[in-house]
Amino acid sequence: MDEDGLTARLKAYEGRSAAVGGTGKDPVNAPMIRHWCEALGDTNPAYTGPDAIAPPTMLQAWTMGGLTGHTTGRSQAYDELLALLDESGCTSVVATDCEQEYLATLRPGDEITFDSVIESVSARKTTKLGTGHFVTTRTDVRVGRTLVGTHRFRILKYAPERRKKAPPRPRPVVNRDNAGFWEGVQQRRLLIQRCTACAALRFPWLPGCARCGGPDWDTLEASGEGTVYSYVVMHHPPFPAFDPPYAVVLVELAEGVRMISNVVGTPYDKVRIGMPVRLEFRSYDDDLVLPVFRAAAEEAVV
Ligand code: ZN
Repeated sequence: MDEDGLTARLKAYEGRSAAVGGTGKDPVNAPMIRHWCEALGDTNPAYTGPDAIAPPTMLQAWTMGGLTGHTTGRSQAYDELLALLDESGCTSVVATDCEQEYLATLRPGDEITFDSVIESVSARKTTKLGTGHFVTTRTDVRVGRTLVGTHRFRILKYAPERRKKAPPRPRPVVNRDNAGFWEGVQQRRLLIQRCTACAALRFPWLPGCARCGGPDWDTLEASGEGTVYSYVVMHHPPFPAFDPPYAVVLVELAEGVRMISNVVGTPYDKVRIGMPVRLEFRSYDDDLVLPVFRAAAEEAVV
């Protein structure tokens, strides 16, 4: 069904009854008034004592069917309308707002009846939640023949917004101590820090030499050759940007330092300790490049 056809079918429900001759499950009563006032912290003395009136905002409460619903007064039109919206993909629902108008005071002992009408069904609207249709129902509440109030209730039946693509991979934390490493990655170079005092290599990047304590350093560009020193297979917990299970590897570079990365092109259950790997740079999105490894031996690539 096209959108115009659907809207026309939905609009046909405007003015149809959602409930006819509904009756309150209980008469207006002091215990429900007391619970309501306690829940809302409303200490207005008008709602207690022998001359108590019901809080006007309880209007809808007197019409509610509770968990088991109403056995009388229900009309099929509203259920049909919701089913039609479900079929069109608008399977989610959210209550958006209600408006009430109070015309007479309700007091304990009043027996209410109500009628509901489907007042309006909107054209297709796009909201942050998704695209759908607003359905407004008006309920007229009566005691005897006297209209005591009206209650308008609006819902949005909508098709939930689908995630268009996987969320981006988390960004690396770039700071003063490791900025040089990430600048190298942007240039597709894997730079290892080297102490200018004792020539010890270090990875990941640190502010000082672990061997001699020297603060000065330069860099050595890695050849890109390495072997899998160890690995773990991640099954849990899931992260939105990743698709478990996947292998996280500790690669020992030919220069002797080790780094954590991924092996691309090899299934997680084919990664092995000692597997020769070669560096490559992979673009994950517009501004994220990461150093990864690929099995060096052709036969290891499945
Ligand atoms: Zn050193």
